[in-house]
Amino acid sequence: MDKIVALSKRRGFIYPGSELYGGLANTYDYGPVGAELLRNIRNLWWDTFVHKRDDIVGIDASLISHQEIWKASGHTAGFADAMIDCKNCKFRIRADHLIENAIGKNVEGLSPAEMSSIIKENNIVCPNCSENKGDKWTQVRKFNLLFPVQMGIVEGDQGLAYLRGETAQGMFVNFKNVTDSTRVRLPFGIAQLGKSFRNEITPGNSVFRTLEFEQGEIEYFFDPKKTDWEKLFEEWKKAMWEFVTETLGVKKENLRWREHTDEERSFYSKRTEDLEYKFPFGFKELWGLAYRTDYDLSQHQKHSGKELTIVDPHTNEKILPHVIEPAVGINRLFLMVLADAYVEEEKRTVLKLDPKIAPYKIAVFPLLANKEELVKRARGVYEDLRQNYMVAWDDRGNIGKRYLYQDEIGTPYCVTIDFDTLEKDDSVTVRNRDTAQQERVKIADLKDYFKMKLV
Ligand code: ATP
Repeated sequence: MDKIVALSKRRGFIYPGSELYGGLANTYDYGPVGAELLRNIRNLWWDTFVHKRDDIVGIDASLISHQEIWKASGHTAGFADAMIDCKNCKFRIRADHLIENAIGKNVEGLSPAEMSSIIKENNIVCPNCSENKGDKWTQVRKFNLLFPVQMGIVEGDQGLAYLRGETAQGMFVNFKNVTDSTRVRLPFGIAQLGKSFRNEITPGNSVFRTLEFEQGEIEYFFDPKKTDWEKLFEEWKKAMWEFVTETLGVKKENLRWREHTDEERSFYSKRTEDLEYKFPFGFKELWGLAYRTDYDLSQHQKHSGKELTIVDPHTNEKILPHVIEPAVGINRLFLMVLADAYVEEEKRTVLKLDPKIAPYKIAVFPLLANKEELVKRARGVYEDLRQNYMVAWDDRGNIGKRYLYQDEIGTPYCVTIDFDTLEKDDSVTVRNRDTAQQERVKIADLKDYFKMKLV
């Protein structure tokens, strides 16, 4: 993991947040190539689940949202995270993480008192100081995960709103708006891609767990009398698996499904499974899939006092749809593809990213930077390829160094314009990132060549 973090910083994927001022815990900034990679993943998600499907529509809801939404969702009440503090060093950590990391026990669903007992019985040591051998913990307490926003100039409860803790609520509160303003018919999904904010205080592994992160969530609504939820659940598992393995090109052996146990599953969910990825720090949740019944819509009906049913056009019957929710963190997908693509070879480090997501698809170099004719010809090739692809230009240092640099940012092909190009055959050297093999290709054939290679 340290090597991936070092490469990320060195090559401009991720930088620590507010670094100039000493950093801000659990925040990160994405650099030039990181921003491209993130955008590619995000665009593929939207393309796959919104543009390529005729049963899903997308929305883009506000980040600042009414406090009642979060009461209805349970975020500001019972679902807040259970936290514990070390009395010795004042280190604060999520109790479930402390227990899971120390003794490998999954405690989702247990009460704060039950977690306090487990910590005491197992003498769990503070991971931040050696003084607390399990005897200097506070009781486990619930902690509000949401960031409050004070609106207007008057302090007080009325002006209180929250930065959203998940994108999902945007789909539920706009359910009626979407069904009233579009032509959707059950079963259908509402998707959203955007930032969410959680007051996470357990130190994360790079961008795995951050205060501010991007989610891609879909609420897939259906009539449980007409649609078999178990079949639908399997269809979603397949769609998620294919997105990760085929679209993002991640190795199947690093993925697994894990079904939530009865204790860990929310009381309203009939089935929850996590697609987990083998990160360098172990198998961890990447993408959750939950059958949430009609819990969310009925909660919002109750709290808003407004009816959220829709009418079946054939029977005129009112239906409160049930929902299956696939929820993924785009930044976790980002960290996964970096980890999955990272390869150390004898003489180089390579990011074997799928060309679909690589920040640059091609890099173009003139063999020498001080030969005007070479630069001119290379510039022409570069400008031409840029019409269709993200192309990098590099004329610094020698060719060997340029290859190493492009390998580290995952550029699948490098094109070099040399003296043979000018004097002999109007061909260029194309070097393949993964094999390091080179071949000569005529400039006139380059577009067709890349059309074949970069599908
Ligand atoms: P975890 O148990 O890891 O905290 P969660 O079960 O609370 O995750 P969900 O509420 O189901 O997560 O959110 C859906 C997805 O959003 C997760 O699968 C994960 O990919 C992503 N996610 C959740 N919290 C964070 C975070 N703090 N930073 C980055 N991504 C996150």
